[in-house]
Amino acid sequence: MKPYDTVIIGGGVAGLMAAVELGRAGKPAILVEKSNRVGGRAITVRKNGALFNLGGHAIYKGGEAYAILKQWGIALEGGQPTFNGSFIWNDQAFPLANPAKLLLSSFLSWSGKGELVKLFWKLFKSGPIAVRPGESLREWAERELRDPMVRHIFYSLTRTATYTRDPDYQLAGPALKQVQRSLKSGVQYLHGGWQSIVDQLREKAVQAGVKMIEHSAAARVVHEGGAVRQVELEDGTVLAAAHVISTVSPEVTFRLVPGAERTVLSRWKDEARPAMAACLDLCLERLPSPDRQVALGLDRPVFFSNHSAGAKLTEDGKVVVHLMKYNGPTDSDPAADLQLLEQTMSLLHPGWEQLVAAKQFLPNIAVVHDYAHLGRKQLEVGPSVPEIKGLYVAGDWASHGEYLLDAAATSARRAVGQVLGGAYRTAVGE
Ligand SMILES: Cc1cc2nc3c(=O)[nH]c(=O)nc-3n(C[C@H](O)[C@H](O)[C@H](O)COP(=O)(O)OP(=O)(O)OC[C@H]3O[C@@H](n4cnc5c(N)ncnc54)[C@H](O)[C@@H]3O)c2cc1C
Repeated sequence: MKPYDTVIIGGGVAGLMAAVELGRAGKPAILVEKSNRVGGRAITVRKNGALFNLGGHAIYKGGEAYAILKQWGIALEGGQPTFNGSFIWNDQAFPLANPAKLLLSSFLSWSGKGELVKLFWKLFKSGPIAVRPGESLREWAERELRDPMVRHIFYSLTRTATYTRDPDYQLAGPALKQVQRSLKSGVQYLHGGWQSIVDQLREKAVQAGVKMIEHSAAARVVHEGGAVRQVELEDGTVLAAAHVISTVSPEVTFRLVPGAERTVLSRWKDEARPAMAACLDLCLERLPSPDRQVALGLDRPVFFSNHSAGAKLTEDGKVVVHLMKYNGPTDSDPAADLQLLEQTMSLLHPGWEQLVAAKQFLPNIAVVHDYAHLGRKQLEVGPSVPEIKGLYVAGDWASHGEYLLDAAATSARRAVGQVLGGAYRTAVGE
């Protein structure tokens, strides 16, 4: 039984980022990943020559993850999506070249146009948007926006920026911050998909001395006298450790820890509201309607984007496009969702079926395991599990208000900060 200072459970981006930080700090650490390859939901799969992320993935250039990865010298090469797109309303696609074009169209009433200008000004202006304590996104929108079509546009933007469709529960403050972040700084699609981040992080962690065990699942986090002692793996291996960082879901973390029902892990599991999505990922010989690169559903919770517009994902000029239906925590019907996504594709790109070179359908994947929402006792989840010394959580659900990869990255940093005995420093603006 070789002693490690820290065992990291899970090799998604949160686990890999924790591994790099610990390695750089010179702490003996080992990462245990259940699957036969690290990366978790950030992996990219190759199908018939096309590179598919697990659903459309874009890195937020104004976010913490981007800043930390850049700081570490991780190459984030690729490009931005194009604005050349459409709104979908009433089974029709309306062109949307840019927000100005929308204002000139007959899509909105005059008062609606005025309201939309005010909304965009708020979202693009530098400071945080004022919200009432504990206010939901719906409450904020109903207080601030009168025009029903402007509300549709607003909800569509928030779904797209947060990947979450839960306006009655989403806390307005963090969600609006995420929308501002996406509009002001934009996003980047990555050459080679998100696998490029995974591969570079893995290499950096190994170079820094972190040991990786793939294809080996953690079975139990053993603690005694209120402190972590060891992690037992499913194959019987025992890893002694002073610290454990669990980056698996709240549900799985709860199951790994004996007596978890007497800890905060129980509440985190019960309170979690996952953001789920149905994803249709396609590689096409060409895009039938090249003027439709991006589309936002107003009266259907869907988003379409051509990722090849910004990123190299094929060798032969074919295009990779991603469609997503935002399911919220519970609203999944795989057959109906696939039909809706295919019908959306037919509306935007008639004849696409004849051009398919590769296809991937993910019926209901967890985009994040939790986010800042009403009904949580505290906004902040983790990093410490106060009842068990040395046990920490990270991952996209251990958020302090951040969304998506930014939550995974900052939570990993917070957990490592605890292991190292130091405070978490934000990477943005350093
Ligand atoms: C369709 C989709 C689209 C997305 N788009 C974006 C986007 O555009 N921008 C953005 O910022 N984010 C996006 N995300 C979110 C982002 O992918 C995730 O937030 C991030 O990858 C989560 O990383 P993680 O390490 O927290 O969790 P995971 O990636 O889930 O990693 C957890 C790891 O733990 C492993 N594991 C599970 N149980 C055990 C066990 N018992 N022992 C050992 N290992 C175990 C799993 O195999 C997994 O590898 C998207 C996600 C999805 C699904």
